[in-house]
Amino acid sequence: MHKRGYYDRFGGAFIPEILTATFDELEAAFEAAKADPDFWPSYVNLMANYSGRPTPLTFAERLTGHFGGAKIYIKREDLNHTGAHKANNVMGQGLLVRRMGKTRVIAETGAGQHGVATATMAARFGFDCTIYMGEVDVLRQRPNVFWMQRLGATVVPVRDGTRILKDAINEAFRDWVGHMDTTHYVLGTACGPHPFPEMVTYFQSIIGQEARRQILEQEGRLPDRVFACVGGGSNAMGVFSGFFNDPVTLVGVEAGGKGLASGRHASRLKSNDASIGVAQGYKTYFLQDGDGQMRETHSISAGLDYVGVSPILAHCKENGRVRFEAATDDEVVAAMALSMRLEGLIPALESAHAFAQAFKEAPLMTPDQIIVINQSGRGDKDIFTVADAFDDPEWKAFICAKAEQYKSGNA
Ligand SMILES: *Cc1c(COP(=O)(O)O)cnc(C)c1O
Repeated sequence: MHKRGYYDRFGGAFIPEILTATFDELEAAFEAAKADPDFWPSYVNLMANYSGRPTPLTFAERLTGHFGGAKIYIKREDLNHTGAHKANNVMGQGLLVRRMGKTRVIAETGAGQHGVATATMAARFGFDCTIYMGEVDVLRQRPNVFWMQRLGATVVPVRDGTRILKDAINEAFRDWVGHMDTTHYVLGTACGPHPFPEMVTYFQSIIGQEARRQILEQEGRLPDRVFACVGGGSNAMGVFSGFFNDPVTLVGVEAGGKGLASGRHASRLKSNDASIGVAQGYKTYFLQDGDGQMRETHSISAGLDYVGVSPILAHCKENGRVRFEAATDDEVVAAMALSMRLEGLIPALESAHAFAQAFKEAPLMTPDQIIVINQSGRGDKDIFTVADAFDDPEWKAFICAKAEQYKSGNA
């Protein structure tokens, strides 16, 4: 195992001295919660009554028939409140914040999904909430900004640097240093300084615990392979943790973007373009150049478009426990289209990466084999990107007309 957040040579907590006491406090609160026999049941109860858990494990009968190989099951994290597995993490941290007696939460968000989830949690618990967002992202994610504000959060556009996620992260840390006694920083994925990777995995492990129980109920046996998309790595760690000690192949699928050879992707573990470094408080594989400058990443899905990756998954790459693959933007759009037509499921573009890789492998497997795909979220939020990808002329005319209306003030 690990010593203070190290997973072999990955992880750690590279934080400013001034935050040491706050991290110690957080780690102590987390350890105390884990040791409290009432804590996990109170979390499960909250998720049952607020977020519809347990989410179903759906047998995809028509997809299975279509490929003629392994039986395909889908874990339905899209059915959580706010539409993704992010709810598991933010609600769990909300319980911890209450235990610590803090009254304010902050978070940073790129695509806006984690901001909406955090603002929702803050409203539910009665915390003050401030969300940092690069100015560029504020403009790109208008609907999410709207909902965060309606939910009572203050959204702060960050105008420093390139005005995107990494600048928002810096600003959130600055806020935290100034308000440590009242404020908790709600990190959104299994990354960042210890104890966040372990803590986020702990809350997301509810996915894998349920999925393992459900497949045993429905099939009387464990699956052969489990697929999950990998951005920061939280939904993957969540579903994988149910099967780590079983003879089950775990497959993490990264954003292959325009193809690994093009250099326009966000694959840190499958491509050879990433190297080990320390940034944003932890050590892992980063997409960076020789001088440690972060490279530009690309993915059709905002949620997988990230330079770092969970140190726990970096470790799982090195010890071979998880196999990593990448799916391209085109493969992802095709997988999404097939899931909609054959199952009536609308996976988020992020989740559709896991679907795309599973669809490559299912036909090569036999009908007595079983695979589980984690549908991390629902695709409603991706309406503009998907319409664009499908190149739907009627839809484009509608959007252009709306844009004109807004410009002329007649909306
Ligand atoms: C945010 C998000 C992701 C990526 O986050 P992980 O921490 O890698 O799970 C994946 N899928 C959906 C639907 C998301 O909203």
